[in-house]
Amino acid sequence: MKVVLYVLAAVVFLLGLVFLAGNQGEVLRIVVGVVLMAASLAMVVAARMRPQVVQRNIVQRIDIGCDVRLQELACTKCGATLSKEAVSVQDGAVMVACPYCQASYQMEEAPKW
Ligand SMILES: [Zn+2]
Repeated sequence: MKVVLYVLAAVVFLLGLVFLAGNQGEVLRIVVGVVLMAASLAMVVAARMRPQVVQRNIVQRIDIGCDVRLQELACTKCGATLSKEAVSVQDGAVMVACPYCQASYQMEEAPKW
């Protein structure tokens, strides 16, 4: 899928180049050429963004793994047992919001629970 996007981007880019190269002062040709080249660049950007989507899926899998063992998780400030709702994953970091003492903090690397 990624390779297809790159090939498509290259074809569209070349098409844009052809439009610009054959240009003899027509504004429409310049516009079409620039638009085609911009579209090809957007495709390359879209193709490069894909690995990040995969990483987000991995983070969500970790999230599920945390939930399973959450019953043994306690607030580091007041010691209260934290529920599933008190913990969330934001940008790959585990955030804890204690409903008892209202403490909100980021969990240190690998917690030993
Ligand atoms: Zn607490």
